[in-house]
Amino acid sequence: MNWRIVGGCFLVVGATTNQFAAPFESPLTRQPTENPLRWYEFASDASASQTVRIQTPTDAPSGEFNLTMPNLEVDTDAALDRFITITAIPGRSGEEEAVAQKITELVRAAGVADRRIVFDGADKRTRIPGTCGNLIISLPGGGRGPRTLLSAHMDTVPICVGSQPVIDGDQVRSSAPTGLGADDRSGCCAILTAILERMRRGDENFPPAVISFLVQEEIGLEGARHLDVSQVGQVDRAFNFDGGTVEKMTIGAIGGERMTIKLNGIPAHAGVAPEKGASTIVMAARAIADLDARGWLGRVEQDGKFGTSNVGVISGGEATNVITPETHLRAEARSHDPEMRSRIVAEIRAAFEKAAAEVTNDEGACGSLEFDSHVDYEAFRLPDDHPSILAASKAIRMIGREPFGEVSNGGVDANWLFRHGIEAVTLGCGQRNIHTADETLMIPDYLDACRIATWLITEGADGDSRRTA
Ligand SMILES: [Zn+2]
Repeated sequence: MNWRIVGGCFLVVGATTNQFAAPFESPLTRQPTENPLRWYEFASDASASQTVRIQTPTDAPSGEFNLTMPNLEVDTDAALDRFITITAIPGRSGEEEAVAQKITELVRAAGVADRRIVFDGADKRTRIPGTCGNLIISLPGGGRGPRTLLSAHMDTVPICVGSQPVIDGDQVRSSAPTGLGADDRSGCCAILTAILERMRRGDENFPPAVISFLVQEEIGLEGARHLDVSQVGQVDRAFNFDGGTVEKMTIGAIGGERMTIKLNGIPAHAGVAPEKGASTIVMAARAIADLDARGWLGRVEQDGKFGTSNVGVISGGEATNVITPETHLRAEARSHDPEMRSRIVAEIRAAFEKAAAEVTNDEGACGSLEFDSHVDYEAFRLPDDHPSILAASKAIRMIGREPFGEVSNGGVDANWLFRHGIEAVTLGCGQRNIHTADETLMIPDYLDACRIATWLITEGADGDSRRTA
């Protein structure tokens, strides 16, 4: 096989199309130039140490180099079939059992022992009851090295129920008028592909790994929140496969808090004696107007700190002839800075308290406030040199893409994993237009996600030192 340097890259010369070639960081025993070079790999053989010939056009030296080749190949036809089968299974939040059953069946058939497959009972702790808990699969391995977690969520948003996945060019879409459900079945199937590939290559050849298929992500990260961490065990590196492009690594996310607000007023006949009442709608209006005027609603920037807030739901009153005695509101606050988020919540609370106290009837009786707030997910941010980030970057580069990190303004399962001491990078799988009827999956991206997931728990499982099986 011939290799040739082309503009700082090596290309395989004479590789046939079924001989997959992908660039990876140079594992050379000696560097041909001082420039950082990317290598194109001839990946027909797992982890084999091979000598290849490098041909150079001009300045770089040529010669024999000893390469250890990462095996990035997966069975792409099987990976795609798997996605189509599993995505066709209905499974909105709280109804994931059939999906979990199918996954269980496939990993069992691949040789994973029954005792390594457990449900953590999270569905007994979540806000809504579910048909099953988080599915946790342990792959004990036989190699030394970091213990790696791969995670994805099994539920889809309701618009995806009834999805009929069909291949359309280089995409998969639903032939029914539904969302596809690639969020997050593509994540599940990328991980599933990795498990099956690892079992095929021999679990005992790799360091330990653990997989979590989570429930109830779409209704507020409930599965991740109520994960039984004792079933997962200690983890050194973690990768959550969810929405977005393959290059994107979500390395942090905002924290969010939800408030329920109840205003109690004084009822009175609106025509006969309105002065006897204290209207909760007036209280709510005053509080909201006050927050808005002082910059605590919408995009919030106060004293150099940032966040967002919203009063999203308001309901109260049953008739126009009654001074409204009760109004319910729901609001939220977000910030990457937990202190700032708490401050926004405190301002919202104070504004409603003040309004309830100021709206009185003719005898000076005022309203009252019942205020409840709970943290949906806490903000987190991994350091740039975190082992999960380093490994994810390396994996993305190996498939020939340029990784970039992003801090999300929405909550992801990784927020809760972080609270449980599991520090995960979230990677995309090529889903597009998620949560809509136009959702599609980019097949090349999905297959790359399969390759990344596989590498992370096979040859890339031992961190920086390269395995030779
Ligand atoms: Zn998702």
